[in-house]
Amino acid sequence: MTLPPAALRRLLLAWYRGHARPLPWRSDADPYRVWVAETMLQQTTISAARSRYEAFLRRFPSVRALARARSDQVLRAWTGLGYYARARNLHAAARRVARRRGEGFPRDLQSWLALPGVGRYTAAAVCSIAFGRPHAVLDGNVARVLCRLFALRRDPRRAAARRRLAELAQALLDPRRPGDWNQALMELGEVVCTPKRPGCPACPLRGSCSARRRGIQALLPALGRRAAPLGLRWTCLWIERRGRVLLWKRGQDEFLLKGHWGLPEAGRLAALVAEPLKTIRHSITRYRIELELRRASLRGPKPRQARWVKRSRLRESLVSSLWLKLLDD
Ligand code: SF4
Repeated sequence: MTLPPAALRRLLLAWYRGHARPLPWRSDADPYRVWVAETMLQQTTISAARSRYEAFLRRFPSVRALARARSDQVLRAWTGLGYYARARNLHAAARRVARRRGEGFPRDLQSWLALPGVGRYTAAAVCSIAFGRPHAVLDGNVARVLCRLFALRRDPRRAAARRRLAELAQALLDPRRPGDWNQALMELGEVVCTPKRPGCPACPLRGSCSARRRGIQALLPALGRRAAPLGLRWTCLWIERRGRVLLWKRGQDEFLLKGHWGLPEAGRLAALVAEPLKTIRHSITRYRIELELRRASLRGPKPRQARWVKRSRLRESLVSSLWLKLLDD
């Protein structure tokens, strides 16, 4: 029997009150804290975000502090979280918010959507949690729970299925407690209605779940085949002179690690390339990179995009875990 939305809300919110994990971003519904957390949580696991969140807020305790920071400081504070475009967008958006003299944070969905890097998910999460606005979130956890609850057999990554799920999420949203409702549904997907083995006996919605009733919960959501990872081969150069190593600033038009300092790729500058030093393998988003490091010497003057950095201070300039892995191995 499928219960009406009001009954489902009561069940799930009661469960959430008793089972919500004490995550650091749940202690305060301040919009800046919620925004930072929701940005970190996109494409990053809770355990990885948890360890970086408090450190990031200590470093940039307010939107003004973040707006005043240099971009390399923000990227460094983002180390370990990956997907650095999120940090660059957060920084750019913080500067816009800080310029709204006296107005503080936007409070409506459209104004949040107008900020760099803020998509429908983040805007709905911040508006509902920080300002109590009635906007449903739809992330992977919510999509999985809804696919099972309503036995939807369509691939939730397809646009039509996504639209249907967004309608269902909005129809179920508790208009009086939208922030708690959104978090409760995400929490259920994260800890009970998990991808491989949903814990149906412990689920507060089990009595209304169509997939469970039909015994097909493990088959949903019906995800099509994922795109295969793309392999890349990079050759990077270790150019060292009198204890200093040449670093290269990657351009904004690169498709990976835009604007990062890193070791120069072969072919980007005039160099005499010598013996290989090591090879590492590393994944960034869906790219599997095989990076060969070769000793080299610079020919001609130092290019504008390059700078010498003391070998002992390399880690202060290199942010991506790709370079840190290269130094460690
Ligand atoms: S009953 Fe099982 S499949 Fe259905 S929503 Fe709950 S955990 Fe997910």
